[in-house]
Amino acid sequence: MANGSVRLGELIDKGENHFVVACEPCKRTGRYNVARLIETHGRDAALPDVLGYLTRTCNQPSAAGSRRCHAIYQRGLG
Ligand SMILES: [Zn+2]
Repeated sequence: MANGSVRLGELIDKGENHFVVACEPCKRTGRYNVARLIETHGRDAALPDVLGYLTRTCNQPSAAGSRRCHAIYQRGLG
């Protein structure tokens, strides 16, 4: 792999079928089905890119101020 980014296919291979996206500044969390995301983004989609897609509707301004959207990936439970 070219960089250290985790890819969706790796999650499935490790038996992680869901993950949770949490964005503290935006006060939102979501639980996502990895297989469904692969249908949309492909196995080679890097997790940071997928996070960016999933949080594209976050309401934090990205240009001004320091409180940018800060979504993080957390392991789901199965
Ligand atoms: Zn956010």
